[in-house]
Amino acid sequence: MSVVNNKKFQLVKDFKFDSAHHLKGYLGQCSNVHGHTWTGKVYCEGSSDMLENNMLTDFSVIKSMIATLDHTDLNVMLDTDMPTAELIAAYILENIPYAVRVDLYESPGSKVTVTFW
Ligand SMILES: [Zn+2]
Repeated sequence: MSVVNNKKFQLVKDFKFDSAHHLKGYLGQCSNVHGHTWTGKVYCEGSSDMLENNMLTDFSVIKSMIATLDHTDLNVMLDTDMPTAELIAAYILENIPYAVRVDLYESPGSKVTVTFW
């Protein structure tokens, strides 16, 4: 019997990326193309039987997924006119194995948290 059996795991990975976006039709400065340094955390959870090679979600998988957003135009990358922090956080949540929560800071003090309902 392995020491990983009969356990629950939570891993948390900090991330950071730079990208541009604009909110088409929004009344305010966010309708102009501008950039952010987005930062946040991905939380993954699972049990022993979900591990592969004694890993729940390889940290490098999260790093690679976040890298697909780095130095992009999020309107193009996510194919939307409204790439809000909510939408970006939800996209990250949907694209990382066993992710259960994403915290995304658009700027210091402005955070979205998304989980599954
Ligand atoms: Zn913005």
